[in-house]
Amino acid sequence: MTDRVIPITDLRAQQRVPVIPADADAPTGLLADSMARPLHDLRISVTDRCNFRCVYCMPKEVFDKDYVFMPQTALLSFEEITRMARIFIDHGVEKIRLTGGEPLLRKNLERLIEMLSRLTTRNGQPLDLTLTTNGSLLAKKAQSLKDAGLKRVTVSLDAIDEAIFRQMNDVDFPVADVLHGIDVAVAVGLAPIKVNMVVKRGMNDAEILPMARHFKGSAAILRFIEYMDVGSSNGWNMAEVVPSADVIARIHAAMPLHPMAANYAGETAGRWRYADGSGEIGVISSVTQAFCSDCSRARLSTEGKLYTCLFATEGHDLRALLRAGHSDAELAAAIGHIWQRRSDRYSDLRTANTDGLPPRANKVEMSYIGG
Ligand code: SAM
Ligand code: SF4
Ligand code: SF4
Repeated sequence: MTDRVIPITDLRAQQRVPVIPADADAPTGLLADSMARPLHDLRISVTDRCNFRCVYCMPKEVFDKDYVFMPQTALLSFEEITRMARIFIDHGVEKIRLTGGEPLLRKNLERLIEMLSRLTTRNGQPLDLTLTTNGSLLAKKAQSLKDAGLKRVTVSLDAIDEAIFRQMNDVDFPVADVLHGIDVAVAVGLAPIKVNMVVKRGMNDAEILPMARHFKGSAAILRFIEYMDVGSSNGWNMAEVVPSADVIARIHAAMPLHPMAANYAGETAGRWRYADGSGEIGVISSVTQAFCSDCSRARLSTEGKLYTCLFATEGHDLRALLRAGHSDAELAAAIGHIWQRRSDRYSDLRTANTDGLPPRANKVEMSYIGG
């Protein structure tokens, strides 16, 4: 299979040093951006490295042996991450997702989880702490992650067919090992487990039904994700997107489905349940039904840059402030200042672009910023 790969310019150096407004009020937990969107959800990338080379995320041709990943000293330490998390919580964050690269590759990640799991939201509730993984190390780590305080995990799995899965991860990783990881995670109580499948037309769309059949009636909730034009290296093309409506139609024809109500306003996944009562599935329609108007997610990159959109071209260098010795109040003021000015709505603009072309080049890579 030949994939188009577009050479990328390295955008990791693009950054703004945040402004610290002198007259900022203390965080109230009610921060809103320029479109009245709150800050509820923080995704923290703990490494930019990965042991997979998924063709839509880290194509081998770009992420090869000469690719320069972040040096250890550039990464935020666990203490720095926890301090940042606390300040984001002061601004209203209630949910933190660890991601990457492959987060389970970060050494002693359990120690970070222990530190984060001790934090509580502004109303004293436990933080919704979760992690997205490719599952390759999950069987080995599920118990220690659970013991450290992790509540649940999301596992990415793009095919149940051995040949297709190996072709997609591009490092010959066997599907059985990921399935075993999911089983162990269920057994130790990391629940509910979600399994995310990115659907790319011509590559794994024939796997929609086999994946649905495999997870129907199991402890895992399968979710189908539309292939997005994240980053600049995957050569994305609208024709390769399988709309969620088609995914639902294909499954419904074989195994009837009913729509379900959302868990909460702004939930990104559309939920459907099997008519025979054997569980539910989800669809994340980031391309065909953009959800920018409800987007309350911030992303903190491996080396401490704040991104206010998955499709950003530039991050705000919070690490520079951290390491220059600024106080929590100053960091909170800087974050508040950035969020209040946020006007990102990239996916809405892409939808409005009727020719289906991405409206922006030079976007930062998914493996760097986290999903
Ligand atoms: N390595 C971990 C994993 O694969 O779960 C965490 C990081 S990965 C970047 C997070 C999620 O982003 C994965 O579920 C992956 O499938 C998804 N992803 C990566 N590139 C994507 C793209 N172009 N469109 C849609 N989802 C994508
Ligand atoms: Fe690695 Fe996850 Fe990207 Fe696949 S999707 S290459 S597992 S970071
Ligand atoms: Fe949020 Fe940006 Fe995605 Fe819109 S495009 S939903 S603003 S991350």
